[in-house]
Amino acid sequence: MIETIKLYDEDAYAAEFTARVVSSEETKSGWNVVLDRTLFFPEEGGQSPDSGVLAGLRVTDVQIRKGIITHTLERPAVESAGAADGTGRAAQSAAGPAVGTEVTGVVDWDKRFSNMQNHTGEHIISGLMHKHYGFDNVGFRLSPRTPVTVDVNGFLDEEQLEALEKEANEVVRRNVNVRAEYPPEEVLKATEYRSKIELTGAVRLVTVEGVDTCACCAPHVRRTGEIGLIRILDAQKTGGGMRIFILCGERALEDLQKKSAVLREISRLTSKKQEEADEGVRHLLEENAALKAQAAEIQAELVALKAERVPKELRSVLLFEGPMDPKAQRDYVNLLTAAHEGLCGVFSGTEEAGYRFVIGSGTGKENAKEAADLLRGNLSARGGGSPQMVQGSVEAEERAIRECLSGLF
Ligand SMILES: [Zn+2]
Repeated sequence: MIETIKLYDEDAYAAEFTARVVSSEETKSGWNVVLDRTLFFPEEGGQSPDSGVLAGLRVTDVQIRKGIITHTLERPAVESAGAADGTGRAAQSAAGPAVGTEVTGVVDWDKRFSNMQNHTGEHIISGLMHKHYGFDNVGFRLSPRTPVTVDVNGFLDEEQLEALEKEANEVVRRNVNVRAEYPPEEVLKATEYRSKIELTGAVRLVTVEGVDTCACCAPHVRRTGEIGLIRILDAQKTGGGMRIFILCGERALEDLQKKSAVLREISRLTSKKQEEADEGVRHLLEENAALKAQAAEIQAELVALKAERVPKELRSVLLFEGPMDPKAQRDYVNLLTAAHEGLCGVFSGTEEAGYRFVIGSGTGKENAKEAADLLRGNLSARGGGSPQMVQGSVEAEERAIRECLSGLF
């Protein structure tokens, strides 16, 4: 089979085309179709494939192998075929595109253009990083659902990333040309360009004028102004450098709008200006930590008072309390075991949410593990510990727990 002619190579802006079917293979879910030429960009170089419609059928995947581009077409649902206009077109589609016939393809333009914006934006970001820091792009991922990721073999701090983002957007504002070409061998040899792998055969060079030249097979915008906006969202350290998350064009705007709504809400909740919302959150966290410390102190005092009130003559003690701080609960049991000879258990929680328990052994040296064994065996409790103290959780009613432990308490 001869290589598919890549119509997107010559014109990234065309969305509709006609082509002849070279092969059409029926599969479980539809057809795998090869054409003599196509506008559908396949999954390649980390970029997800174009989608659209071919011969009236949805294109769900496009793959390239040894220069041959295969389109995966989806078999229409039975209802939609039946609901067609009665001209027989649906029946024809249901049979799949026949070899030798001419078909029409339409690429989803919004998705394609968004990919062009994001891809060209990536060239600018990677190109500037290479120019200023000598970093190489070692990985790239562009798909519609997650931010674009760019992996490089070096690390930049926040300040450097901010400067990079600014400069990249300056390139957008300058609205410089982006051109793609297959230069002749001798020109290629004399040209400096970025490339992920050592390429053989015809090399397609993409140049962002005055900024970067890189070997690349994907569609790009004609002028940088069409990118609109380049945003660096985040960067994470990786083993060999960093992964940068970027978004360009409309996707960058949508992301900003979403985050802006979150910031507006935080500003409203904290009664702080948007510019000072972080201060508001920090203040709440500090306040929360102080309240927690205060609550723990109060609970410690409370359990001391409660332990005092338990009649001293009781050998064993089994108490049910509302939700309490885990440390206070342990302190409570320690105070009880110091004053009572038998087992001392405190269950904190509610019947709906379940109980967290701490059971200690008093001066009589009874084995607290027996209590945990009974709870695990009869009420599917979790937890364990030492003969002196066991801890765990159980989802059961107070009545059932008391009954289960009635032999020990
Ligand atoms: Zn590219």
